[in-house]
Amino acid sequence: MKIIMLGAPGAGKGTQAKMIADKYGIPHVSTGDIFRANIKNGTELGKQAKEYMDKGLLVPDELTVKILLDRVAQDDCKNGYVLDGFPRTIPQAEVLDEALTKLGEKIDFAVNVDVPDENIVKRMSGRRACLKCGATYHIEHIPPKQEGICDTCGSELVLRDDDKPETVLNRLKVYHDQTQPLIDFYTAKGVLKTVDGTQDMKDVFNAIVAILG
Ligand code: ADP
Ligand code: ADP
Ligand code: ZN
Repeated sequence: MKIIMLGAPGAGKGTQAKMIADKYGIPHVSTGDIFRANIKNGTELGKQAKEYMDKGLLVPDELTVKILLDRVAQDDCKNGYVLDGFPRTIPQAEVLDEALTKLGEKIDFAVNVDVPDENIVKRMSGRRACLKCGATYHIEHIPPKQEGICDTCGSELVLRDDDKPETVLNRLKVYHDQTQPLIDFYTAKGVLKTVDGTQDMKDVFNAIVAILG
């Protein structure tokens, strides 16, 4: 099963994608996590991506598309995957579509996690991320067992630089301008499913499972 998560920054795509990956036994592929791992390891790709990420802008398609296509060509993606944060532009979606068509494959579901802008800034300022294993928490809604420490790997949790309110507002604008058009793109393909992302995380997950089957 091949699934795409759509939604504004902070809508809960990553949280749900991890739960989907666990339940269906498919990898969770996050371009944001791949970029952050590259930044942490000081790679050339990381240096280039950081310039854009810190401003709340999208990393250019030329840099993004290749890493995603390489990732989904790996063995563990043979039986499907859940994409979180890709595609984010129409050209990215078109390249993915062409690559899949060549293989005689297609996206089965594009799950749109719908959360209004008003809720987003608050969610992001409470988000705490583990840069080691990619886990995310929320200081009020989804707190770690021990404050500031990742439940999964014991590393220190951080407020991402791009989760500060000024940058979040930029990211929301970028979302509306460049990413939201994907809702029409996948509606036209007949695979778009929208869930109410303002519900409790377990209720959002149940709604998604009801769709995926
Ligand atoms: P969120 O889901 O909270 O917006 P992500 O971890 O998905 O965060 O992305 C963080 C940043 O990484 C984005 O703001 C953007 O700069 C960059 N990024 C991630 N995925 C893509 C993509 N598919 N295309 C361009 N930039 C991306
Ligand atoms: P995205 O990947 O779309 O940027 P995340 O999954 O990282 O979003 O979620 C953003 C923030 O909101 C995180 O702090 C996360 O713990 C929290 N969160 C996720 N889902 C919910 C929910 N249903 N209700 C409240 N908070 C949530
Ligand atoms: Zn961790």
